[in-house]
Amino acid sequence: MIKQFFRVTTIEQAMELKQHFQDDAVWMAGGSKLNATPTRTECSVAISLQGLPIDKVEWDNGTLRVGSLVTLQKLRDTVYIPQALYDALGFVYSRHVRNQATLGGEIAAHQPESVLIPLLLVLETELLFADGEILTLEEYLQSPGDRLLVEVIIHDLFRRCATRKFSRSAGGWSVVTAAVAITENEEVRIALDGVAEKPIRVRDVESLSLQGEALEKAISAAIHPHADLSGSKAFKRHIAGVLVADLLTDCLQQDEVTK
Ligand SMILES: Cc1cc2nc3c(=O)[nH]c(=O)nc-3n(C[C@H](O)[C@H](O)[C@H](O)COP(=O)(O)OP(=O)(O)OC[C@H]3O[C@@H](n4cnc5c(N)ncnc54)[C@H](O)[C@@H]3O)c2cc1C
Repeated sequence: MIKQFFRVTTIEQAMELKQHFQDDAVWMAGGSKLNATPTRTECSVAISLQGLPIDKVEWDNGTLRVGSLVTLQKLRDTVYIPQALYDALGFVYSRHVRNQATLGGEIAAHQPESVLIPLLLVLETELLFADGEILTLEEYLQSPGDRLLVEVIIHDLFRRCATRKFSRSAGGWSVVTAAVAITENEEVRIALDGVAEKPIRVRDVESLSLQGEALEKAISAAIHPHADLSGSKAFKRHIAGVLVADLLTDCLQQDEVTK
């Protein structure tokens, strides 16, 4: 239960407090996860990030830089974001939650369902932390730690990309969420959520230059999902393969449109 609540106005203050309270303190952004049952925090100290100047969406020579405090809805309302990012933000189905939840919180929450992460992975998103370190999102997911995320950086936002969430109902939990992108060099990027402990890039298949049924089969063979209430292993393997093959077709069709 939170007993002390600090509102900081500089990153230095935030870091000092964390240094002092260590694991007793938790960063609080929108609070949508930390205040909700059953994900409520056990920490006794909250360091609110709401007063920090990291709530802007900025373009920097074609690179999109999103402050970690930017809410999902604010990013979704930003003009000129690509359709796939708009779609992915909409996978968090409730506008109320999107108005509260921040991009930093969505990335740092490490939830079983991470519907936005596959798209951010295929866009090869980078993360800037308060100590100045920059990691790719993929590196961060391997060992997230408790660092303060300051900025989300996407260099090539307008590469051809598409994403889809497969769920049993519109507002239901995602069974599998997939994203595919094609880089300027015609390299394919594939990411999935719901088929492993964490969202993953499927690198082994990316390099095979497959399409259609061959791609479906390769994806199904490359992943090792767990069976649960949302579906059996075979079902998830099948859905993931179909989603990825469809999304690659979507990306290739985007190419046709722009030629
Ligand atoms: C009713 C409801 C419905 C939801 N539906 C969905 C859904 O459909 N899809 C979905 O993906 N999520 C959903 N969520 C979960 C929630 O939206 C996400 O976990 C959310 O994005 C968290 O963002 P936040 O800013 O509120 O984070 P908070 O609750 O403030 O924090 C979440 C975690 O991230 C850490 N954190 C936050 N910001 C930073 C930062 N800058 N640096 C380092 N660590 C940080 C916190 O310490 C905490 O561990 C739902 C939540 C609720 C309450």
